[in-house]
Amino acid sequence: MLGDHSSLPTDRALLSQPPKTGLSCKMVLQAVGKVLRKSKAKPNGKKPATEEKKMYLEPEYTKSRITDVGFKELVVLPREIDLNEWLASNTTTFFHHVNLQYSTISEFCTGEACQTMAVCNTQYYWYDERGKKVKCTAPQYVDFVMSSVQKLVTDEDVFPTKYGREFPSSFESLVKKICKYLFHVLAHIYWSHFKETLALELHGHLNTLYVHFILFAREFNLLDPKETAIMDDLTEVLCSAGGRGGGGGDGASGGGTGAQNHVKER
Ligand SMILES: [Zn+2]
Repeated sequence: MLGDHSSLPTDRALLSQPPKTGLSCKMVLQAVGKVLRKSKAKPNGKKPATEEKKMYLEPEYTKSRITDVGFKELVVLPREIDLNEWLASNTTTFFHHVNLQYSTISEFCTGEACQTMAVCNTQYYWYDERGKKVKCTAPQYVDFVMSSVQKLVTDEDVFPTKYGREFPSSFESLVKKICKYLFHVLAHIYWSHFKETLALELHGHLNTLYVHFILFAREFNLLDPKETAIMDDLTEVLCSAGGRGGGGGDGASGGGTGAQNHVKER
């Protein structure tokens, strides 16, 4: 048992809350069934088993955003703001948003439906404080992630909020660790719960969050490219044209905003 992960009323409550959409579980399941039937009607070419699962790559869904703000400009460190403050503030915000996004589908992410924390062919394991590998279901893994991140972002020694307090020397590596975990959760939502997200009509929110998060992590080298390679196909589609959307896989619909893609690449 991991005794340290118990005192988190806020986010545990969040995770157990049903989505605040006014939709019942039955309605969502019906909508999911509809989406599935629709997707089956489309011939998918080669590798049907894998491709069919990647519904999130379909242009009609990848175009969906809740804003067309240029995230590439938004993630850049503003002048006069301390780098660590910027990392701390954004990391905490991403944590809350990923937690919220996961809470909308958490009732479908059960120990039975998601027996392992799997994304594509990769399976993630949790490691406890002693570095011991813990075999767990996806909801348990997400709970470990949310609990440990909550503990970090509320630890005054790690994420100081009071004037005059310094960030620890390990701050950047801890932020990287948090980003890695949040990426796992986002990837799991896409891989295993995209159809429910679609049925809830929250795919625009998910895409927007993903783009913002990935571009932020890229700007400050917070994620190992090897770690994120698993979702490279989605990242490429979503983050082209500065992540503004409209850049569907066919390349024909990305006009208009693409020309503004002038921010320096690093
Ligand atoms: Zn799941």
